[in-house]
Amino acid sequence: MKKLTKLRTKLNLQENRLRENFEMLDQIRADAVNDIESLTEDFQHLTLVAESIRRNYRALLAQNQLLKDTLLSIVDECDCWPQNRCDSCQQILKIIACDNSEQKPDAARKYRTILSQLRNLG
Ligand SMILES: [Zn+2]
Repeated sequence: MKKLTKLRTKLNLQENRLRENFEMLDQIRADAVNDIESLTEDFQHLTLVAESIRRNYRALLAQNQLLKDTLLSIVDECDCWPQNRCDSCQQILKIIACDNSEQKPDAARKYRTILSQLRNLG
């Protein structure tokens, strides 16, 4: 009888430990699901940010292209000749050529100067 009680206590202890383990595993799984949901939300947010950056960059490229086209059309419509460009056209062509150089801030400043000159002409 004593032996049986001892065994039962031992079994109860094992079962309790097993149940505790199950509860812990359930908690860990629930935490993992929460983490995955939170990660999904983060990715969705990042996707939105990336889309916004892509849209803005596309708009910037389109604007840049429009500006270049406008500047080139000014050169095209000028009375000077390709072999003998006037100062204004030479400056415009120089700015367009510098567009791919590493001196972006300088080129941007020149663009702004030309743009303000154009606005003054208009
Ligand atoms: Zn010209």
